[in-house]
Amino acid sequence: LEMQIRQTDRLAMIGQIAAGTAHEMRNPLTSIRGFLQVMKHALKEKGDLKEQGYTEIMLREIDRINDLVSEFLLLSKPRSVRFSPVQVTDVLKEIMPIIQNEALLHNVQVRFRGGREFPQVMADSELLKQVFLNLCKNAIEAMGDGGVLTIRIKVLKQTDKLAVEVQDTGPGIPAYAKEKIFDPFFTTKENGTGLGLSVCQRILQDIGGDIHVSSKEMGTTFSVLLPHLVD
Ligand code: ADP
Ligand code: MG
Repeated sequence: LEMQIRQTDRLAMIGQIAAGTAHEMRNPLTSIRGFLQVMKHALKEKGDLKEQGYTEIMLREIDRINDLVSEFLLLSKPRSVRFSPVQVTDVLKEIMPIIQNEALLHNVQVRFRGGREFPQVMADSELLKQVFLNLCKNAIEAMGDGGVLTIRIKVLKQTDKLAVEVQDTGPGIPAYAKEKIFDPFFTTKENGTGLGLSVCQRILQDIGGDIHVSSKEMGTTFSVLLPHLVD
């Protein structure tokens, strides 16, 4: 038991150091990004197209590091949750422009009926946005060259739970990956961070929700379960 505690302590300490390091990376990255942008414009003025292309690649790569750092911080730092009654439809409507834009870029059609009202859930709307954004992003990325993204809200009878389903028509999750998709840093993508689903799971843990996945060859459905308010 003592060894187990020591192991947990060590992991917690490593987590703290890592989170601190990630946090400290933010400022230098912002500065590098800023000066790169200046360089990009200067090269554009001068007509150095090739070099301008390099700066664009560098900016993209910096954005990737930024994403990684943000997701890592979300995972490692205990974040305070601000609970309030939330209408899930409103949360989805707010992120719809971002999803539509991403979908358009990937030739994906989005199906979501926002009209109906559902029982409210006690949650943190900012954190919920992150969960749904991550799931929709994954769905769109899974459908490499077009498909349909369907978002549904259901009231589960007899359980006081609301289910938000994010369904795609992608190739499904390969058998070998099914066990691992929620592990931090597990990714099958060339440019993936492998942190999206870990972040989702962590957030749902914090707000008393849950996440399930069902995947077949015709597509994948992630279901987010949230306890809803009853009156
Ligand atoms: P990332 O998107 O950076 O790879 P995630 O944690 O969001 O990290 O996802 C982990 C892995 O789970 C993905 O690399 C992919 O293999 C798998 N995955 C997630 N969502 C889907 C989906 N809708 N369809 C197929 N595979 C998926
Ligand atoms: Mg992802």
